[in-house]
Amino acid sequence: MMNRYEQELSRLQAKGNLRTLPEVEHSGKWIIAGGKKLLNLSSNDYLGLAADKDLRRRFMEQLDEADFLFSSSSSRLLTGNYPVCERLESLLARLFQTESALTFSSGYHLNTGILPAVSDNHTLILADKLVHASLIDGIRLASAEYIRYRHQDYGQLEALVSKHHAAYERIIIVTESIFSMDGDVTDLRRLVAVKKTYPNVMLYVDEAHAVGVRGDKGLGVAEEQNCVSDIDFLCGTFGKAMASVGAYVVCRKELREFLVNRMRTFIFTTALPPVNVAWTCFMFERLPLWKERRMHLARMGQRLRNALAEQGIPCVSGSHIVPLVVGDSADAILKAEALRRKGFYVLPVRPPTVPEGTSRLRFSLRADIDESELNELITCLR
Ligand code: PMP
Repeated sequence: MMNRYEQELSRLQAKGNLRTLPEVEHSGKWIIAGGKKLLNLSSNDYLGLAADKDLRRRFMEQLDEADFLFSSSSSRLLTGNYPVCERLESLLARLFQTESALTFSSGYHLNTGILPAVSDNHTLILADKLVHASLIDGIRLASAEYIRYRHQDYGQLEALVSKHHAAYERIIIVTESIFSMDGDVTDLRRLVAVKKTYPNVMLYVDEAHAVGVRGDKGLGVAEEQNCVSDIDFLCGTFGKAMASVGAYVVCRKELREFLVNRMRTFIFTTALPPVNVAWTCFMFERLPLWKERRMHLARMGQRLRNALAEQGIPCVSGSHIVPLVVGDSADAILKAEALRRKGFYVLPVRPPTVPEGTSRLRFSLRADIDESELNELITCLR
């Protein structure tokens, strides 16, 4: 007789949704899997900087001995508030031209921490249907009421705000700027317009997949759409294009102070290691300079999307994340294996990461791919 866990595992296996941890080795943009060198199209190293040896060498040359620590050994409110944390937060506030910034151990800490802290049972959260699992968990932990509106359906959102604003002390609209699984871009200005219709509406935007790659200085879609100062909680992560670890929010001063006092995933966890924080500072100082990488990435995204369109494959993406929705999980696995045989490492993305029936190959482009590699991929897809 199978126990509950075994039953669940065999159910996942039957549906093609059983996950195992892939055994891989890395070499820059390449993955070595099963003895074969494959182009890595499944990482979030969008600027192709995570394995840049020259960058690391230059970082080590300028690293202050005081920051060369692999543990902060304490939470920020006790003895973990190293000067480098404040230095990073001042740098972020200066780059985004906002009053303040606060950093966290990960995007997961960020998204599961802010919403429960800033909402109560007089709050209504209106979240896009496709927001990341970490935001959903944050919403679940919050004592607020919540409604998930249809993906990027701004009309429905407007109607919900207008219907409910009077019944709540505050409404918080929650979205991503580039959606992680579809690569489509949110019209943040439209959301800002909705927010501005009533004084008790706030806006929370997760730029995890956009920071580093969008905007003239690489600050994200809010920079690109010129609405940084209209977003109450402008968030992002360091573990993707920024080639580091952790996350941030840029916000008004009083909100930062409130989070320091009330956000459980900030208070009750060990602060990031100072050496990682110093690396994140180093990366953000250079971010405006990587404009050519951003432009190259954008051009490649456009080319891959055009190639899919030419094959009559619908694709909503407007970014460097380009999904090829297959539908069935087993089929997605087969297609990923076929691409692997051709030298491309792209993982099938299956439920629960994406809704049932929308299993896909998610091409996650990176700025260190060259034209010929992209051409080869496009030829294979054809
Ligand atoms: N937000 C979004 C939109 C994400 O896609 C992810 C992770 N892929 C996170 C937050 C979590 O960030 P982290 O990996 O730093 O925990």
